[in-house]
Amino acid sequence: MSHRKPYQLVSREWKKENTEFEVNGVIFGKDLVLIAGPCAIENREQIFTISEYLSKLNIRFIRGGAYKPRTSPYSFQGLKTEGLKLIREAADKYQLGVVSEVMSVDKIEELEEYVDILQVGTRNMQNYPLLKALGKSKKPVLLKRGMSSTIEEWLLAAEYIVSSGNERVILCERGIRTFENATRNTLDIAAIPLIKSLSHLPIILDPSQGTGIRDLVSPVSAAAIAAGADGLIIEVHNQPNEALSDGDQSLYLDQLKDLMPTLKQIAHIRNKHFDFENTLSFSPNLS
Ligand code: PEP
Ligand code: MN
Repeated sequence: MSHRKPYQLVSREWKKENTEFEVNGVIFGKDLVLIAGPCAIENREQIFTISEYLSKLNIRFIRGGAYKPRTSPYSFQGLKTEGLKLIREAADKYQLGVVSEVMSVDKIEELEEYVDILQVGTRNMQNYPLLKALGKSKKPVLLKRGMSSTIEEWLLAAEYIVSSGNERVILCERGIRTFENATRNTLDIAAIPLIKSLSHLPIILDPSQGTGIRDLVSPVSAAAIAAGADGLIIEVHNQPNEALSDGDQSLYLDQLKDLMPTLKQIAHIRNKHFDFENTLSFSPNLS
């Protein structure tokens, strides 16, 4: 007897083949997708320097928070509209797609004007009015796993978006809270093949929030692709030590470049289309 899952539209039972959709020339669910950028948009020089570097690596998406969900109300909250304008301008100059977080229903319209993919953060995974409203959006949604959420709760959150009309949902594993405090979160690599068996939606991994530690980001990125992830969202900064948020987990730009050959090899093994070839011998000089 087969037990019906509580979620339907997002399940493999409902739809056998992978959901694939194109954004900025990249096919989610098929290509290996790389999204990189700072935790937060901070200033013009930062966002343009990073954008130029990403474009030279042939990375097609920049991330960057304009509205930041910070644990402390006294921490940097983001540049808001000014930040969105900056990241859009830089992305247009370097032909990048933009990924940025939407924290509330009343900001959806503004975010839609500037970004290509709307990110729902871990703290909002169960914000049901937000999920339903994003179901009405024409933009794809990157849905982070709630830090205390089960796989089933996560897929039900995706079901809210899909059942409200938007099938373009990208799941993002970013680690969960456990007793372990040596890493910022406990990254659930097993979630990747598990989600692949339970759902047709693309799944990517965030090794930055997932570990909180810069030197763990590259090995864990490799592991995610090996486990079958459709991509990665990685925090990178031109000056991590000066970053206004999450500097300790942000790669240096050169570390991102150095990760490429490894990802290429693993993508090949996993039969994922890797479109960053022309970058491998490139040594950026952005002095
Ligand atoms: C982020 O991507 O910077 C972020 C805040 O992510 P999360 O919601 O997973 O903590
Ligand atoms: Mn961050």
